[in-house]
Amino acid sequence: MTLAVEDILVTRNPATGEEVGRAAATPASDVARIVGRSRTAQSLWESTPWSERRAFLERWRRILSRDADAWAETIRAEIGKPPNEAAAGDVIPTLDALRWTVKNAGAALADERVGPSWQRLLLTPVGRLRWKPLGVVGMIGTWNYPLFLNAVPIAQALAAGCGVVWKPSELAIASADRLQAGLLEAGMPDGLVGMIHGGGEVGRALMEAPIDKMVFTGSVETGRRALATAAANGVPGLVELSGFDPAIVMPDAPLDATVRSIVWSAFVGCGQTCVAVKRVYVVGDAAPWVHAFAEAVRGLRVGDPAGAGIDVGPLINEKALTRFDQILRETTAAGAEIIAGGLRMDRPGSYYEPTLLKADSPGPERALEGAFGPVLLVRGVADVEEAVAAANSSRMALAASVWGRDRSAAREMARRVVAGMVCVNEAVTPTASASAPFGGFKASGFGRTHGLLGLREFVAPQVLFERRAGGFRPQLFPYADSATVDRFLRFYRRLFHPRA
Ligand code: NAD
Repeated sequence: MTLAVEDILVTRNPATGEEVGRAAATPASDVARIVGRSRTAQSLWESTPWSERRAFLERWRRILSRDADAWAETIRAEIGKPPNEAAAGDVIPTLDALRWTVKNAGAALADERVGPSWQRLLLTPVGRLRWKPLGVVGMIGTWNYPLFLNAVPIAQALAAGCGVVWKPSELAIASADRLQAGLLEAGMPDGLVGMIHGGGEVGRALMEAPIDKMVFTGSVETGRRALATAAANGVPGLVELSGFDPAIVMPDAPLDATVRSIVWSAFVGCGQTCVAVKRVYVVGDAAPWVHAFAEAVRGLRVGDPAGAGIDVGPLINEKALTRFDQILRETTAAGAEIIAGGLRMDRPGSYYEPTLLKADSPGPERALEGAFGPVLLVRGVADVEEAVAAANSSRMALAASVWGRDRSAAREMARRVVAGMVCVNEAVTPTASASAPFGGFKASGFGRTHGLLGLREFVAPQVLFERRAGGFRPQLFPYADSATVDRFLRFYRRLFHPRA
């Protein structure tokens, strides 16, 4: 069969334009069949003993660990990140999450005894709570952490006994092919994890296919579209959407260390990190902070991450750069002042100067909300009340941070900030926690990945009650002796529900 040009997807190194990945788009009409294959494999996988499922996941972890350097190189070439950053932020957290899953999923998903406690007197039987796999998960991926954000939910779905059909981002094809090859090498049952390539149309076909849960990582707008498509068939969802993360700087925060940490947390991954810090609220005089942030931002070394000593690489592609530049123009039009950077770089590749903005009012923040690139906005606020209000003013609520020497004051502030992950004197890195649930509030999404709660996204609780055949059961017709029942109910109520 010959494929039309538009059916071939190509990814290019954003630093050099060289081709990195190439794949034929999956015809939308094939998607339901691929889901069907996964379902057939899943029905056996579900009843495969945990020891065998665990052995498969452990084999996959070892393959990823063996290939860690090659993975970092693939991510550098396809996404444009320094290889050390790819290793520390993408590969190692994935290995840790697989290790956590291998060690803990068996116990976390084991049957549990339920009740009956005092209801024993009502002859309520003992229940057995069972975590039943949902079936086939339809997963739509993004590109910025092409291993971590895809492999972790796949591993957890498989640990839970589900099958998966996933559509990686059309911007991370080489990474996706590497991930799928690792699953095959580990001995994945035929068709259990199906990969389909394509853009929005193929993603939509997956959301329309007979899946049992949708998992989506990406932007708010597309995520809501995908969610609506799946919801039309009653399919539940886990959606990990954009962030616009605030950092509150308390008056006692140490300047140098805090600036260094926030600048890394803002510009890691060229600012294309969902939990990157995007806005800083300095409680009190912001002037020395703006100065220190500007120095640190100007000191970042931008370039092709293939070279040594590069802090920040290019944006993912030209389209992302144009959109980012447009948002910065709108933000300055809304009143933000450019303190550092603010322009695309005059060199081949989609490079943008790391940019520091200063604002004196909330207006520019609203304009900046969709920015996915190397920018940090700083605003001074009068007191902690204003800082909390500003942090909570966005429709996004993925992660947030509070910085200061007095940890109990900072912790108290942290508790008032609405976000799925709130850190004190930390940002971004705890996202790598294998055991802590990760996910957002408000427009940033719902559902959780990682750890126990991440596993539970792929199962439904099923309760089994049982009794000996022919054994005595209370309250069977006819109520021959109501006096006895009355006496018992009075006794029961006196014991457990006395009148107030
Ligand atoms: P995107 O929303 O443009 O695309 C995400 C995925 O959706 C892609 O695979 C795309 O092909 C697919 N898609 C497009 N239309 C679809 C449709 N109608 N139905 C189903 N799927 C469809 O986002 P992106 O550019 O890949 O990622 C960038 C965004 O992701 C940023 O906003 C970032 O903040 C967010 N993000 C969030 C998290 C998180 O964990 N919360 C992590 C990483 C990135």
